[in-house]
Amino acid sequence: MHDFSSYIGIIGGGISGLTLGCSLRKYGINTVIFEKEPNLHDEGAGISISPNGLIALEHLDLKNELEKSSYKSSKAILKYNNSLLLEMDSPVYTMNRRNLINILYKKFIDLGGEMLFDSELKDIDIEKKECLFTNSSSSKIRHFIASDGIKSLVREKFFSNRSQPIYSGYSAWRGFIRSENPNVEITFSSNKHLVSYPINNDLKRSFTGIIKSNEQVTESWREKGNLETFIEYFEETDNKIHEIFESAEDIYKWGIFVRPPLKSIIKKNITLIGDAAHPMVPFLGQGACIAIEDAYTFGYLCHELKCEFDKVQKMYQLLRLKRDNKIQKISLNQGKLNHLKNPFLVFLRNQLMKKTDIVSNRLKAIHNYDVHEETIKSLTN
Ligand SMILES: Cc1cc2nc3c(=O)[nH]c(=O)nc-3n(C[C@H](O)[C@H](O)[C@H](O)COP(=O)(O)OP(=O)(O)OC[C@H]3O[C@@H](n4cnc5c(N)ncnc54)[C@H](O)[C@@H]3O)c2cc1C
Repeated sequence: MHDFSSYIGIIGGGISGLTLGCSLRKYGINTVIFEKEPNLHDEGAGISISPNGLIALEHLDLKNELEKSSYKSSKAILKYNNSLLLEMDSPVYTMNRRNLINILYKKFIDLGGEMLFDSELKDIDIEKKECLFTNSSSSKIRHFIASDGIKSLVREKFFSNRSQPIYSGYSAWRGFIRSENPNVEITFSSNKHLVSYPINNDLKRSFTGIIKSNEQVTESWREKGNLETFIEYFEETDNKIHEIFESAEDIYKWGIFVRPPLKSIIKKNITLIGDAAHPMVPFLGQGACIAIEDAYTFGYLCHELKCEFDKVQKMYQLLRLKRDNKIQKISLNQGKLNHLKNPFLVFLRNQLMKKTDIVSNRLKAIHNYDVHEETIKSLTN
């Protein structure tokens, strides 16, 4: 048995677990991350980080690194099939997810954090404060953080809503192409949409195409898809699609899964963060950003409240639960808007986008959240 009884033990070394690791180590709090995989996640996929996520990363002294490894488009273009709906300033940094994970991991290790790979959690004994791993090792822990993603075992075992992840009705293809297009682009079509953006200065561009479909696809980042099928589905979105996707590298296809919102994300000495607490459909690009907000909040509260976990958890829940559940719900509603089929409703939506500020106002309401300020405000109230 490893004695980490003076450590916060984080189950899962994805974006939320690593961000929390950085946040805790910034204040010298003993932290260990247990990751089931033998090494860091290396799935190549694009990710966009909006200003609300960026603020947290800035407070963790990671903004410069992020800027160096990402691309900042100045414009976002919204289209319906081949015609322009809207052009607006783009507020997001876009990058390869692998780079973000590497930046967070490096920072965590530089700050003196420990990460144990090949450590898949099997069970937790809450009373004894012990966790047991599938490799038969076990560890004594001071407080447990579950950042083990959408399929969270901890959530399933310890939280009241034990339902398994369910297929959302959306399936996605993703991959990379080469393109000189410097903009973020979102193209809507009947019952589908396509998002693409540059991820670096070398003309590499990430794309994600999403359709609403009853045909259920596995929840996996590693399932290969078929380029011809993808092009067939998305032909109407762009009359140059064959040309554009000639340069496509491997293409992956997977099902998007959801879990219903929880009434509580804390239980005894366990706290949920990130997708374990609130998996999100990706239609606002907020899953990782909200996970980063969660992680930053928990780390800062541990520091300010001197790791008195009862107080930390209560304050964390107060700050996070409402916002997490709200963004989860808005993301689902955005999915309905993105996948309209009825020509009259499509017309209405497109007119609203063209003629009002609805899109930028909706985004600003999410992006303007300053996680640092909000946490301080809650501590002084
Ligand atoms: C198509 C798509 C596009 C997206 N685009 C964006 C975007 O542009 N912007 C954005 O903000 N978000 C985006 N997201 C959402 C984002 O990817 C997730 O919200 C984010 O990765 C969640 O991070 P996490 O650390 O909570 O979970 P995960 O990334 O799932 O990490 C969980 C970690 O826990 C480990 N683990 C699991 N079980 C165990 C166990 N039993 N023991 C030990 N370790 C375990 C896993 O191996 C993994 O490393 C997108 C999602 C999808 C599906």
